[in-house]
Amino acid sequence: MSDCLFCRIVEGSLPARIVHRDEHCTAFWDIRPQAPTHLLIVPNRHLDGLDAAQAEDEALLGHLLLTAARLAERMGLERGYRVVINTGREAGQSVFHLHLHLLGGRPLGWPPG
Ligand code: 5GP
Ligand code: ZN
Repeated sequence: MSDCLFCRIVEGSLPARIVHRDEHCTAFWDIRPQAPTHLLIVPNRHLDGLDAAQAEDEALLGHLLLTAARLAERMGLERGYRVVINTGREAGQSVFHLHLHLLGGRPLGWPPG
């Protein structure tokens, strides 16, 4: 989808600070970081959000989570980190291409706002 921000980052037509890329996903720094480490992990194939995922996406969803865990290790987040998927406007989703936020490097409050 050429009008999708994260598809453009995956394709390389929009610059981003990419930290990981494989056959299934791409990870890059959030442009407005909410924590010292704030990465976004996105599937290379467009999906509107978690609510759009189907049974055939099961392996992809697992891969996204495992990638988050490996990146957390690489970023030195051994004290703790949070993985967030905002789904739908009321939950704060603003980019409608599925993405995991990986946040860490400071104490994270609970419940989230
Ligand atoms: P959401 O609000 O949909 O859960 O998260 C979207 C995230 O994408 C936000 O944290 C926002 O800062 C980030 N973002 C929006 N536009 C860009 C961009 O052009 N580049 C990067 N790297 N991040 C972006
Ligand atoms: Zn997209």
